[in-house]
Amino acid sequence: MCVCVVLFLSALYSPVTLVGNSKPSFSTPNEDCSLLDELNFNGTRAFSDIEWQLSLGPRLPESNASSTFRENLSNMLHEIGFEVHLNEHQHQNYNFTNVQARYSPTTNASSTLPRVMVSAHYDSRNIADRDENVSYHSQPIDGANDGGSGTAVLMELARIIPMLNLPYTIELLWTDAEDQDDNFTLGAKAWAENLSQEEIESIDSFILLDMVGDRDLKLQKIMPGNDSLYNQISSIANKLGYTENSKCQTDFPLGVLDYTNTSFVFDDHVHPHQLGIPSIDIMDPVYGNETNNGFGTFWHTMNDTIDNVSPESLLAVGRIVEYGLVNEMFIDFYTSNDSSNDGDGNMSQNEENTTSTDRSSSDVYQLALFITLPILCIIIVVYNRTTSRAR
Ligand SMILES: [Zn+2]
Repeated sequence: MCVCVVLFLSALYSPVTLVGNSKPSFSTPNEDCSLLDELNFNGTRAFSDIEWQLSLGPRLPESNASSTFRENLSNMLHEIGFEVHLNEHQHQNYNFTNVQARYSPTTNASSTLPRVMVSAHYDSRNIADRDENVSYHSQPIDGANDGGSGTAVLMELARIIPMLNLPYTIELLWTDAEDQDDNFTLGAKAWAENLSQEEIESIDSFILLDMVGDRDLKLQKIMPGNDSLYNQISSIANKLGYTENSKCQTDFPLGVLDYTNTSFVFDDHVHPHQLGIPSIDIMDPVYGNETNNGFGTFWHTMNDTIDNVSPESLLAVGRIVEYGLVNEMFIDFYTSNDSSNDGDGNMSQNEENTTSTDRSSSDVYQLALFITLPILCIIIVVYNRTTSRAR
């Protein structure tokens, strides 16, 4: 996961303010603890998927580890009924390969069934450039959380999707070259650039999973992103008891999701978001202790290891996505969310108005985003350099 994150107080700069008519995502939880028992996602198996990735070595673009990963993943996906495509791209000095897998109740390629995409990057960072020890700055990181966790959740989702009998098409996208040197999100960018207008319009939602394995998981609302989709995630977390004030006896005493915390992260989801595809990033950017740059002390360091991720964190995120898939909460949410979320207490007429303005206001919003984000990045870089020189 990459570069530039700025923690915002929502009062200072909030997309909610830009789109107007919005209400906070949280209200009284309407949780049903028994739902947890009905879900299939296996956190222990996902954790093993991280261990397996780490055993391959650094998953750098063009490396043997990277090709071994793709080969094994493709075999697994074929065996469970996915249609798999390996899409090769080139940018500057990088050759990289995205893995895209499709599971659909129909083999009709021109089907107009809804289409949900879930994605994660599978490359690991080639340099530990945030490590306190400068001798590690040219060394690759393990990437247990950054790369490994999202990839593992996606692999476990792939295993359970065939048994969910979803009445729509689901596509899983493992992107390459998200996190190399000063180049970020190359795989997702290449994927997005190769979409036809027809394909863009056929995608109901794009859900990115990045840095979701932190032992101390605290998912934040990552912007830019689609507010309606984030509301769906909040609603699910409420139902499953994954929020702060839950009564469910989950694996986490204090909850794993708090969307009153907002961060700004340039990540893979920005590319489909720019195309107008409803997109979100499920992420806990604070990995380790908090730092000035908004990421944690383990981010892009040699401490991104298996010891700092947990099966319980993967389980929570996997369950949230599985619940949303099964209950069709990532399709048609622009028009049907009021009826499908009756009783949640966190959808309202105002929310629907907000929803309808999301796309129409996206030009204004994106303009604001892409003017301010580079300026903020520069400020952060200058600040970091100033403080590191001062040390
Ligand atoms: Zn990263």
